[in-house]
Parts: sequence; structure tokens; C-alpha cells
Amino acid sequence: MIIKKSPFALYCVLFLMFVQTSCAQTQEALSSQEKEKIKREKNMQNPQWRKDNYIVNRDSAFANPYYALQKLKGGNKRFEEGTSIHPRQDPALIQSLSEGQAPFAIIVGCSDSRVSSEALFDQGFGDLFVARTAGQVMAQASYATIEYAYLNLGTKLIVVLGHTSCGAVSAAVKIPADPPGHIVTLINAIKPAALAVKNMEGDEINNAVRQNVINQVNDLRELESVLSDAYSKGNLLIIGAVYSLDTGKVEILDETMENFPPTNFGTEDITGL
Ligand SMILES: [Zn+2]
Repeated sequence: MIIKKSPFALYCVLFLMFVQTSCAQTQEALSSQEKEKIKREKNMQNPQWRKDNYIVNRDSAFANPYYALQKLKGGNKRFEEGTSIHPRQDPALIQSLSEGQAPFAIIVGCSDSRVSSEALFDQGFGDLFVARTAGQVMAQASYATIEYAYLNLGTKLIVVLGHTSCGAVSAAVKIPADPPGHIVTLINAIKPAALAVKNMEGDEINNAVRQNVINQVNDLRELESVLSDAYSKGNLLIIGAVYSLDTGKVEILDETMENFPPTNFGTEDITGL
């Protein structure tokens, strides 16, 4: 009766109905988020689920670079199989990181928009300390960035991550007549790798990608004084890998997994994944 007599009252009723519906929807959304959180926490306690999803304990990964490598390999396997779990991305965790960080790996990667380390290794906030330039070419600022993570954050694994069909490597292989601006800097840095694989069988650019990563790993191992000292004393692991744009798989380069100096880390068992 009131509704009939007053359009204003009708608006009020409709508005209240709208508010009630919105609240119900929000509650539903929250409860589904809560459910998801509970499920995730339950999964993390389940040894079989952890095994099936290649989960490696984070503290172990931070303390031991061989475990860190296992953790990266496990994450990439999930990514490759389309079963990424997108860990450590909830608001409470992100907020807790304002107190500090303990990334378990340093990734020296290419700036290419298709090569996001967190996504392809299925890691979260606070996990990876990343330095990116085209062709992962390094100079003083990159070196300082890497040294900072080792010295100040205690990260003990460095992965130089190249990728197939890299534009910067491609430019160094083809060597354009007159590279504009500062691009010549990238070409000059990658050129030794391009020349080294010139007569090699197979895809010239992808051969150069691999060789460029190997050269960069060696450069870091010999970089005076912080990294060369840490590496030769077995306090730091520096390895190379190549990400395939076609398959999503990260291949750890065997050439960078040999002849390590004796390390100060317990297990060196890196098989299994
Ligand atoms: Zn690239």
C-alpha cells in the first residue's frame, strides 16, 4: 500500500534489495576465497600432494642452492604441465613481506615480455630476485644487483636464463649494418657467442643463445671479487639454463653443471626431476 502511494518508498525498497543481494554475493565470494585458502593449506600438509606437485620446502631451498634448483625445476614442471599453483600471492603473505625478503634464487634473464621468471618457474612474491636486460647482457649495475642479493639477502643460487628465438641474440648473429642508439652495446656483448657457433650444426640463433648463456655463467664465476671469491669457495652456485618459448620447458645446461668447486652444502643430489 505504501509502495503504491510513494515512488520514493519504492526506490528505498529496491535499493535495500540491491544492497542485500550485493552483500550476499560478497559473502559468497569471500567464503569461496576462504575455502580455497583452507584447501591450499591442507594440500601443503599432504606429503603425497606435495610429491605430486614437485613441492620443495622453501627454507631448504634458501639454505641450499641444490634444493633451490630442485624447487625451480619443480615449479617449471608444473608450468609446463599446465598445473601451476601460483604460490605466495595472497594479500597476507604479500603484506608480511614488508618486513623483509629472503629470495631463494637470483635469476639473470632476458627482458623479453614472454619470459617472466615468476610465471615460468611458478613461484610467488619474495621468491626470486630478478635482473633483466635484453639478451641478459650484464654490465656494472647488473653485477652490483647480483652481488647485493648474495651479500645482503643471502641468496646462494644464480641462474642465467636465456631463451629460444631471443631477439637480442638474433641481432648479434645477423649484425645489422648500423644499429641505432645504444643497441650496439648488446650486439658487442653477445657477438663472441654468435661467432663461436658460426659453423655449428643446427639452428644458428638457438646455438648462439646457449653459447651466450655459457659465456655469461663463466663471466659471473670469474667476476672479481665478490662472486669469484664466493663461487671458488663453494658458497654460491652459478648455473645456466634456456627456456623454450615453444614448450615452456626450462633446460638446465649440462655444460654449466660440471666441475663445480667443492661446495659447503650438504646434499648435492640434483637428480629426480
Ligand atoms: Zn631475449
